[in-house]
Amino acid sequence: MPTLELIDLEGGYGDTQVLRGVNIHVDRGEIVVIIGPNGAGKSTAIKSVFGLLNITGGEIRLDGEILTNTPPEKVVRKGVCYVPQTANIFPSLTVEENLEMGAYVREGDFQPRLAEVMDLFPPLLEKRNQTAGTLSGGQRQMVAMGKALMLEPRILLLDEPTAGLSPKFRGEIFSIVKTIHATGTPILIVEQNAKQALSIADRGYVMVDGRTVHTGSGMELLEDPKVGEMFLGGGVSNGDAEAASSTPGHIPAQEGSAAP
Ligand code: ADP
Repeated sequence: MPTLELIDLEGGYGDTQVLRGVNIHVDRGEIVVIIGPNGAGKSTAIKSVFGLLNITGGEIRLDGEILTNTPPEKVVRKGVCYVPQTANIFPSLTVEENLEMGAYVREGDFQPRLAEVMDLFPPLLEKRNQTAGTLSGGQRQMVAMGKALMLEPRILLLDEPTAGLSPKFRGEIFSIVKTIHATGTPILIVEQNAKQALSIADRGYVMVDGRTVHTGSGMELLEDPKVGEMFLGGGVSNGDAEAASSTPGHIPAQEGSAAP
């Protein structure tokens, strides 16, 4: 049974329909990536899990249990953690205080978990007493992910974790995503840097105009000429993906150009 399923999902903000048929599942132990042009509804698909929009059709399931339209605080208590793209840390609190805030719905002593999370992010260990607002963009993203991990989530949802970061920090974030995944946490990630994201993903989905229109393994999507042309800046191979991830100054694919 998948950890998370979005089945024929339709919905939006108030009367504005954004999702028009979204089918996504994340199995235990998977990294799954959603790619697609700007405005396709990728972030909205993630937000749907948190009861943050008006679902008009379809269903969301967590380990088989229906989750559709469950309020955010209940979704978090069920073990689904979400790292939004922005405003995802408390800038005036220290790194350690941010992680402690992440544990606020956790019962019992959180110190052992704090030590485990710190171990995943060596740069944070050194800066544990520094206020989070003074960190680099990449390190702030680490704090945001660390905060979410304090709850030992059943699944972690990441909304564009590398947005606005330099290629060096993007590489660091993707390698941390792999490390988190190696601890057994399934991850659903929305990414603009489609090549790098697909190169670490088990599977991916292409969303266009509120619908999931294509799916495959990360490698299949990377090597699919149609996907390459539309979202990855031309035909690609995995070799290109690796080059993209290690080339300083690489300009990410202009995904917006594929908007219908
Ligand atoms: P993507 O993540 O694929 O770029 P989004 O899910 O952010 O796309 O946005 C999909 C559509 O939903 C866009 O047309 C956007 O303007 C609209 N939208 C996003 N957030 C809101 C909101 N809070 N209220 C109303 N419309 C929104």
